[in-house]
Amino acid sequence: MNKKYAIGVDLGGTHIAAALVDQSGKTGKLQECDIAPEEREVNNVLNKMALIINQVISEEKIKREEIFGAGIALPGFIDTINGICHFSPNFPGWTDIRVSSILETTLDLPVMILNDVNAFALGEKYFGAGRGVKNIICMTLGTGIGGGIIIDNKLHLGSSQGAGEIGHMTIVPDGPLCGCGNKGCFEALVARGAIIKTAKEMIDKNKKTLLAEVKDLSPLSVFEAAEKGDDVAKEIFDKIGRYLGTGISNLILILNPEKIVIGGRIVNAHKYLFPPAQKEIKKRVKMFPPESTEIVIAELGSQAGLIGGATYVFQQKCEAFKS
Ligand SMILES: [Zn+2]
Repeated sequence: MNKKYAIGVDLGGTHIAAALVDQSGKTGKLQECDIAPEEREVNNVLNKMALIINQVISEEKIKREEIFGAGIALPGFIDTINGICHFSPNFPGWTDIRVSSILETTLDLPVMILNDVNAFALGEKYFGAGRGVKNIICMTLGTGIGGGIIIDNKLHLGSSQGAGEIGHMTIVPDGPLCGCGNKGCFEALVARGAIIKTAKEMIDKNKKTLLAEVKDLSPLSVFEAAEKGDDVAKEIFDKIGRYLGTGISNLILILNPEKIVIGGRIVNAHKYLFPPAQKEIKKRVKMFPPESTEIVIAELGSQAGLIGGATYVFQQKCEAFKS
């Protein structure tokens, strides 16, 4: 029987989502379940994943022989080649867990795992904003900054499979402290915390702004203030946008990709962030036309991880995806 499908699984800290994905990136009915904090122990979560994958197969009424395998996207330091989760921030007890081999035995299907941002990048490359080009860098802009690099249609994993940690490239050597312990990392200057910190600094300077009345500052509240014409909110995004452009310039200079694909909640403020970022890129990328890299917004939304997990399976198992 011809194999046609892959099952994509998105393993979040509190939630599992899975669906059948065909070779055009179309997803079937979404199967979901929650993970309570006390259920995060390895065997529990693996059992839940096996259950949900079996549920996808039975609800879609397909035969196992039609499936190339299952691809699981999860955050953390993942050995994709050997199917091992070395560490995941969502599951503190998970150290060097052989996720693939355990689930393969239970499910009688090939099972692959990859970092969720790498999955997002592969999904966007084949079925989202990166369709039709060979080299893209994807980044998620939210609480932190994650990255996934595709070179010549292939996910670039690096020598210890840690490539794409763009959130921790240094932008300002003595800049603000980052969660990783270093100073001046890209995400310490551009992600959620940086936007809130910049807003607080502006308020402390007694600048006239709607944000002074906001109880819980967030990127969304800054965006809403900017939408109401608040100059300070626009100034905040201008500052953050310049740092965003500085980081993107580094990426363009190193890899010269056709596209940089940006996802994550903060990208909703693109109309304020992208113009200063573009200005910075024009200033910093001088060795080749900066326009050769297009900055675009991700298209797959919340299903990117799941579709990307399935895409990795197609890439490994299906000839049509290998060229
Ligand atoms: Zn850092």
